[in-house]
Amino acid sequence: MKKALVCGAGGFIGGHLVKKLKNEGFWVRGVDLKHHEYTELPADEFIIGDLTDPLIVNKVLDISFDEVYQLAADMGGAGYLFGGENDANVMHNSGAININVAKRATDVGVKKLFYSSSACMYPAYNQEDPDNPNCSESSAYPAAPDSEYGWEKLFSERLYLSFYRNYGLNVRIARFHNIFGIEGTWNGGKEKAPAAMCRKVSETPDGGTIEVWGDGLQTRSFLYVDECLEGVRRLMDSDFMGPVNIGSEEMISINGLAQLVAEIAGKKINIKNISGPIGVRGRNSDNRLIKEKLGWAPSATLKEGITKTFIWINEQVKKQK
Ligand code: NAD
Repeated sequence: MKKALVCGAGGFIGGHLVKKLKNEGFWVRGVDLKHHEYTELPADEFIIGDLTDPLIVNKVLDISFDEVYQLAADMGGAGYLFGGENDANVMHNSGAININVAKRATDVGVKKLFYSSSACMYPAYNQEDPDNPNCSESSAYPAAPDSEYGWEKLFSERLYLSFYRNYGLNVRIARFHNIFGIEGTWNGGKEKAPAAMCRKVSETPDGGTIEVWGDGLQTRSFLYVDECLEGVRRLMDSDFMGPVNIGSEEMISINGLAQLVAEIAGKKINIKNISGPIGVRGRNSDNRLIKEKLGWAPSATLKEGITKTFIWINEQVKKQK
């Protein structure tokens, strides 16, 4: 039986990954600062621990796992990552986790390691036109991410690639583009745009108004978590190291996303655009490389994923009342 370690297993993508790996027959150890908030995980072992501490990393990474998935990061939505107040923590905590994991994984002879980077590492200067952003993998340099979160991701990509070149650590790196879905943060300030829109629409009566940050014309693409993990597993099983985009090419404005959620909810909703942290003007996945290397790319529509997510968040909102 293959053994996998999921770092960040108590989080959104990590939780879904634990379930997927168990379905595929892996023995799974999860580690996180906390237990999963929304679901019972089928992990064989779950360790609560802080991966910024090298002693904890030594403890959880004690054997030559077949596969390690490093998803743990000091993370949140735009409000958390782009406001500026959390820059030092984001750089320190996520940087320390990756430094510890890269070294220890090498020392114990991990067979393959996946690292989740982010589209936030792409240069801001290529993402000023909301209708025509450039996020091809080869556009990463000269580097100019618009947030410390993006800089740390770029640093850690290079860290893992250095461990590959100098010590033979067998790495796979993907740049995720706005992953969303059920069983993810939907309130409290760390939620991302799709979950925030679903919550706002759910809480607002028909004919009401919701607030959307920025002028709402900024664009993004969003990928449902199941397809993200399908891409991760295919990358792990391939010989291609990356970095490669894992995202959707279905770009939409943020106001368009709010309207889509309202349509799915069967409500007429007015949008009030207010000032708030928005990040770059435009961002879309470029899937040419993943198609070329893996012969596969995500294909489900945004509407399918948002429908599942809205139904789940609507239930959470009702439960809270
Ligand atoms: P998440 O915040 O739900 O999960 C991250 C988990 O890491 C959390 O459960 C958190 O408790 C844990 N963690 C943080 N610091 C830790 C520490 N010191 N020790 C142990 N655990 C710690 O985020 P997610 O959306 O599931 O993202 C997973 C990964 O994918 C992250 O690396 C993130 O940067 C990357 N990513 C996500 C997206 C997205 O849209 N969700 C986009 C790009 C990249």
